[in-house]
Amino acid sequence: MKTVPNSLRILRLALASALIASLYVAAPAAAQTQELIVYLIDHQFVSDTEMATIQDEIGAIFHAQAGVDIRWVLDDSPRRQLGNNELRFLILASDGTRWFHGPSNVIGLAPHDDSGVGRNCFVFYRQALWFRQQAVLRCREATRARTQALSAGVAVDPSIDDLAPAECGEYLPSLTPMVVARAAAHEMVHILLNKLDHSEGSLMRKSFDIKEWLEGDQVSFRLLPEEITALQDLLTPVATTPAR
Ligand SMILES: [Zn+2]
Repeated sequence: MKTVPNSLRILRLALASALIASLYVAAPAAAQTQELIVYLIDHQFVSDTEMATIQDEIGAIFHAQAGVDIRWVLDDSPRRQLGNNELRFLILASDGTRWFHGPSNVIGLAPHDDSGVGRNCFVFYRQALWFRQQAVLRCREATRARTQALSAGVAVDPSIDDLAPAECGEYLPSLTPMVVARAAAHEMVHILLNKLDHSEGSLMRKSFDIKEWLEGDQVSFRLLPEEITALQDLLTPVATTPAR
């Protein structure tokens, strides 16, 4: 696979705390179920719990939202060009340094191949770990400030809410696999829709902000109605695996 840097569709982690307005609208119920086959190659050896979280979250995006059923094939992949309803999803143990020749804030990417439409999406597990660690530090700092204010009998500085909401600790245990899942789903949509650009809101925005992950808001990690419709159109009727 030839990788052309300019054709990389990548998802970056944003450190800015600006909130992104959500454009999500509940999708109409899908009339039928389409199938997407995902060959998941796990180079990180994630735990069964993390794997379940990853698959559940991607399933929530594709199945619950778009009616697209995912058939997971673990640690196996056919040695042929994949069809329209097939993808490879590789969890890499690295931080992507080798891809970008130095540190970056990229967590996932979906390179074009020679045909113009790649079928592989990559997620860098170490980037997800780093992302979670930044969230932990923010949550700890905010929690400490709230505790100090409480013991001193003074009001909590409003800027603390911008750092992390009071319930931030709830989302930290599952954050690493959730970052992997949502980054993967983002790249999968790039591939499936051959979508090179990003949306203003939704899962397909250009970058994810750490604060968003501490608020437990699923809406900003879901697809827009037009993205759902495009996926359904693409995968209907159920395509059989082409023999090539
Ligand atoms: Zn992207």
